[in-house]
Amino acid sequence: MNSMAFSLPKISPFSPIFRLKTLIIVSIISCALVFVSGTDRGSVGNGGDELYREILRDETVERIKELGKISDADGFLERTFLSPASIRAIELIQSWMMDAGLKTWVDQMGNVHGRFEAANSTAETLLIGSHLDTVIDAGMYDGSMGVVCAISALKVFKLNGMLGELQRPVEVIAFSDEEGVRFQTTFLGSAAVAGILSGSALQISDKSGFKMQEVLRENSLDATEESLLQVKYEPKSVWGYVEVHIEQGPVLESIGCPLGIVQGIAGQTRLKVTVKGSQGHAGTVPMFMRQDPMVASAELIVLLESLCKHPESFLAYDDQCGGFTRESLAGLVCTVGEISCWPSASNVNFTVDIRAMDDTVREAIIFEFSKRLDKICDNRMVNCSTENKHTAKAANCDSELSLQLKHAAHSALKKMMVDLQGDVPLLMSGAGHDAIAMSHLTKVGMIFVRCRGGVSHSPEEYVLDDDIWATGLALLQFLETST
Ligand SMILES: [Zn+2]
Repeated sequence: MNSMAFSLPKISPFSPIFRLKTLIIVSIISCALVFVSGTDRGSVGNGGDELYREILRDETVERIKELGKISDADGFLERTFLSPASIRAIELIQSWMMDAGLKTWVDQMGNVHGRFEAANSTAETLLIGSHLDTVIDAGMYDGSMGVVCAISALKVFKLNGMLGELQRPVEVIAFSDEEGVRFQTTFLGSAAVAGILSGSALQISDKSGFKMQEVLRENSLDATEESLLQVKYEPKSVWGYVEVHIEQGPVLESIGCPLGIVQGIAGQTRLKVTVKGSQGHAGTVPMFMRQDPMVASAELIVLLESLCKHPESFLAYDDQCGGFTRESLAGLVCTVGEISCWPSASNVNFTVDIRAMDDTVREAIIFEFSKRLDKICDNRMVNCSTENKHTAKAANCDSELSLQLKHAAHSALKKMMVDLQGDVPLLMSGAGHDAIAMSHLTKVGMIFVRCRGGVSHSPEEYVLDDDIWATGLALLQFLETST
């Protein structure tokens, strides 16, 4: 609910609208005095003392907290694709979109849209989005922050009577599923908008045996291949996609900067490795006859670590001669996340997660791992197999769009008096985001926001209120200069 009184029609000297209008005047005067050559259109982002703190910080933080309480579980945050809590979250987000002067609707995949139709309604649309679903026992900032900050930035435009000055339609989208908890398929919402979601996805079942089609129909959504096609946007109707997200890593905190610009999102492969040995009595089968899958798995896991720690040991690595370079090895991370031993000690399964900015590096690691896996398993007399569970190619952010976001972030941080030691940092994203799916539709750009300890997917997730404020200012600046 909107707890603040921005919808009051009268403008008293104590009302936020009055203060906002005063701020514009203050800001214009200060621009005239300090930056004589400044040409900002009314300078909604140059807000003087307050810098729209009430909306971009206080109200935004309140709303993120309010959304964070909407959960399907007692005592922790869990909000998965079209769950009862998700439906309540959708309604709340729609009320905030209307409060910001946006026309709102829910599409056939449960994505929430809030659109401002510019005077030039045929111009390509700027999409700004993130996701409203969460993991189990989640933090409240992942996804929600990107949605709420975008709505708040547009609300400032509305309160200043400047929505009409936007040169192109602007649409905020809260995607219904990014985390993939319910159907183990990530990016359902954004993949549908980007037109890359296969109709066969409707037949996937959740853990309770409900098909996605049934879940959609329960919520009065058509759930046919034709209705999925209606969710898809035409590439020529879209100008670009911008996403704000918590960093989910420690880099920004370590360098003391609230905001960073994402250069690209790593590609990812998930493998399931099965190692089958033979059950032998621990005391009776001699060492040279043992077919122990535990030890073979341990050797394979250490092998994976060494391949990713020292890729130069087997990749043609040459800064000068066109092989893999330091740049192409950026973001290479390999992890074994789960390991299980069943039945008894004869069968081991473990998961492998490989991420890299360069798809050929990721493929080379998979190739080398598979090759050496065969040798190790032969030597240890166990049967090994790998199954590809998921592959997503890396997505590069658009360089021009990223530059615009960087300028906007720089301007916001200056207004926040942040002591920028250098430029706004450029980062790689090791985590997947809706921007990956949206890159199939249009150019994408992302702003990362510092989070405490780099922690995400946990109730410990935390973003400073002032960093949320800086994010709102950056979006405001971006909207002002780029639309
Ligand atoms: Zn997220």
